[in-house]
Amino acid sequence: LTADDRSGTVFCMAIGDGEVQRRTPNPGSQSALRQDNSQRIISALLGAGPSSQAELSRLTGLSTATVSNIVGVLTERGIISTTPTTSSGRRALSVRLADTGAIAIGIFFGRSHLRALCVSPDYRVVAEECVDLDPHTAASSAVDVAAEVLPRLRRQHGLDAAAVLGVGVGIPAPVDRRTMTVVEDRILPEWAGIRAAELEDRLGGPVYLGNDADLGALAEMTWGVHGEAKHLVFLRVGSGIGAGLILDGAPYRGNIGVTGEIGHLPVGDGTRSCSCGRTGCLETVASTRSMVELLANTGAVASTSDLMDSALAGDARTLAVIGRAGEAIGHALALVANLINPRVVVIGGPVAALGDSLLKPVRVGLERHAIARVAESTELVLSTLGDRGSALGAATLVLQQPGIPLARW
Ligand SMILES: [Zn+2]
Repeated sequence: LTADDRSGTVFCMAIGDGEVQRRTPNPGSQSALRQDNSQRIISALLGAGPSSQAELSRLTGLSTATVSNIVGVLTERGIISTTPTTSSGRRALSVRLADTGAIAIGIFFGRSHLRALCVSPDYRVVAEECVDLDPHTAASSAVDVAAEVLPRLRRQHGLDAAAVLGVGVGIPAPVDRRTMTVVEDRILPEWAGIRAAELEDRLGGPVYLGNDADLGALAEMTWGVHGEAKHLVFLRVGSGIGAGLILDGAPYRGNIGVTGEIGHLPVGDGTRSCSCGRTGCLETVASTRSMVELLANTGAVASTSDLMDSALAGDARTLAVIGRAGEAIGHALALVANLINPRVVVIGGPVAALGDSLLKPVRVGLERHAIARVAESTELVLSTLGDRGSALGAATLVLQQPGIPLARW
């Protein structure tokens, strides 16, 4: 069984007793149509995760009657399973792919930590580990850590190396999609020029690279609660600040894949210099690194976790710094919202734990700088995925690759 709905070649539709029937029906025949429709539903489930039949109809363009029919056939064959659920208050069926034992790996390499997780094609996290990294860890050493973590994770959870479909890697730096290469960036300068192909031997499978904010946006659409938002901005606020854009239901990639560099919009007070060489960028007041630097003279805040603790304890100086950061973020979001009129803006990354102390000033900044109709129609929320979004998105990137083998028989 493959997930390639573009090749139109061979689809294998028998699962269960280890026997796979390969058939290539006559093009245009009734059975060719049914196989094509089946493939569309399987690809939709891989790309979007468990979905109701109504969502599958929307995702595939097939009628609800056709979806219902195909879901029945695929359930009988053991390729998918269904469970009762409710959708908009009405009874519905949640449709998911069967667990074939295959896994997609997602890794997020942050400046100070690495998160790795294994995900099944039915969108369950079956194994996960988060490891602290020294902020000065070289890229090759960080990859070495990942190369140790992955086999350990698999062993602990009884997952076979052969079951790995691929490894999605999220990096807080721009990724040139033409060459799958990390573009030079000051957050992780030692990663500049690294290509996906270089990592394959050490990580044990095909590697797909993505920018952390782009992957965070993908995770909001697939793992989060915003799958139906066709126009979404995901803002990841960590050591750097980046945005992932979903426009008309699809990730916006731009010309070379370097999009959403909202961290370098000049909305700061213009006095602090930025890693990009300019002054007054959003990152100079609102990245976790900048907030920690701005509070360094208090003696109580030396790391992102100190910042969180201090904010949760209600420290006035910390809350003032977060308030100014939030308003600057809102200002930058207003510029973006005026341009693209998103339905929802989701803020994620470690700052999601700050709750209203961040969200309220962001709302103030947005309302002050966006035109009223845009501000009032833009929903502003914190991510429900916490700091896991980029790693989940990295695993989703693997599941969305055309032609991945779902299982090995
Ligand atoms: Zn900058």
